[in-house]
Amino acid sequence: MKELTEAQQKAKALLYEPAYASDKDAAVKQAAAAFSEGYKDFLTRCKTEREVAVYAEAALKAAGYQLYDDRKQYAPGEKVYWIHEGKAVLCGTIGSRSMEDGFHLVIAHIDAPRLDIRPNPLYEAAHFSLLKTHYYGGIRKYQWGTMPLAIHGVFTRADGSTVTVQVGEDAGDPVFCITDLLPHLGAEQNKRELSDGIKGEELNILIGSEAVADEEVKEKVKLQTMILLNEKYGITEKDFTRAELEVVPASPARDIGFDRSMVGGYGQDDRVDAYAALMAEIEVKDPAFTTICVLADKEEIGSYGITGMGSTYTFDWLRQLCRMQGADDIRAFRASLCLSADVTAAYDPTWSSAFEPQNGTYAGRGVAFFKYTGSRGKSGANDASAEQMGYLTRMMDAAGVAWQIGELGRIDLGGGGTVATEVAHSGIAVVDIGVPVLSMHSPFEVVSKNDLYMAYRAFSTFIAAKQ
Ligand code: MN
Ligand code: MN
Repeated sequence: MKELTEAQQKAKALLYEPAYASDKDAAVKQAAAAFSEGYKDFLTRCKTEREVAVYAEAALKAAGYQLYDDRKQYAPGEKVYWIHEGKAVLCGTIGSRSMEDGFHLVIAHIDAPRLDIRPNPLYEAAHFSLLKTHYYGGIRKYQWGTMPLAIHGVFTRADGSTVTVQVGEDAGDPVFCITDLLPHLGAEQNKRELSDGIKGEELNILIGSEAVADEEVKEKVKLQTMILLNEKYGITEKDFTRAELEVVPASPARDIGFDRSMVGGYGQDDRVDAYAALMAEIEVKDPAFTTICVLADKEEIGSYGITGMGSTYTFDWLRQLCRMQGADDIRAFRASLCLSADVTAAYDPTWSSAFEPQNGTYAGRGVAFFKYTGSRGKSGANDASAEQMGYLTRMMDAAGVAWQIGELGRIDLGGGGTVATEVAHSGIAVVDIGVPVLSMHSPFEVVSKNDLYMAYRAFSTFIAAKQ
């Protein structure tokens, strides 16, 4: 070993240089690759919040979780779960310490930007059947044209029954699409602002082109489509008015790169953190603090609604847990700590001007902490305290979890928020953390396998903490 000069020793001791830590560790790479196999399967199978809830319930049951009963007292080590309205998941493991010592929560969200089918969607034009959509969450509309799309969701029928729809995922399924102009006739469209490249009213889904053979019928193509839908799902056109149908990219999650070091796929914001959080929760055994994992809905549209974190269901559940243990919920909330697990933008060298390099978060550098999010002077941010950041980062260092810290992008360029504000509003301290994503909110998002694995390790470490 070459001896270090005094200045070199000082540099090592005093300067902080974020690194691609996991890159140098073959064991980490191997573990991350193995962990990602389960993740890709999850991502491919779960393209809506309802599908995540179904997946999670099966996984929780298989791991010995009991359906939560609010009249029952649970013993330390017991595992309970509850599916809220079919679209949000609550689960946890009872700790050995009093709940007044606080909960250790990890909260991620399982809704993702997409195109929802409108209440009166079906129409016929130029011998095509089409569905009108209304986009959900922040999408760049031009990204959704000319790609294979699937339709997932539910119809509630006139007789009160519900039927599940999922078309476009199996190899033998048809898919759907949004059409765009050919370049030869694109001169006018080319002059539009990028945000208007394809407008909201142009996000129409092509679903058929055959007609019934009866010249007397007015909308022959639309009727032919309805006949097929009626045969398959037992629905009439009126049932669209009470349906919940989501249009999502039709392809499976895939490895990216010759080295297979990344995962590409739809809905990784925030299912990448949701999967890591769920796996960490399922694996925790006999924790000191009661652990709580919440996979919430509606984050992408502001956490409103009965399944969003703006609703009281999570905090009501925590209060009920306290009540059955004879613990004071206000004390419990004050002592609790929550990781708001949500993705952030990965620094993109092709779009580097959108970032501040020194405070970017980089794919491959580990799970990313965020002291604050928000926009224009931290507006809307939770802004965690130095003490909480210290507690968590020291814990991660001690456990060998690769982490980084930064901001979303350049100051005043934009910004964003997370469910951290809702958690803080309930009186629970919260810190933002998550996996950096390239092409966030696009139909094909990219994450580093090492970062996914480090998110899982971070959540595992946090919920297993003794102090
Ligand atoms: Mn998110
Ligand atoms: Mn998002």
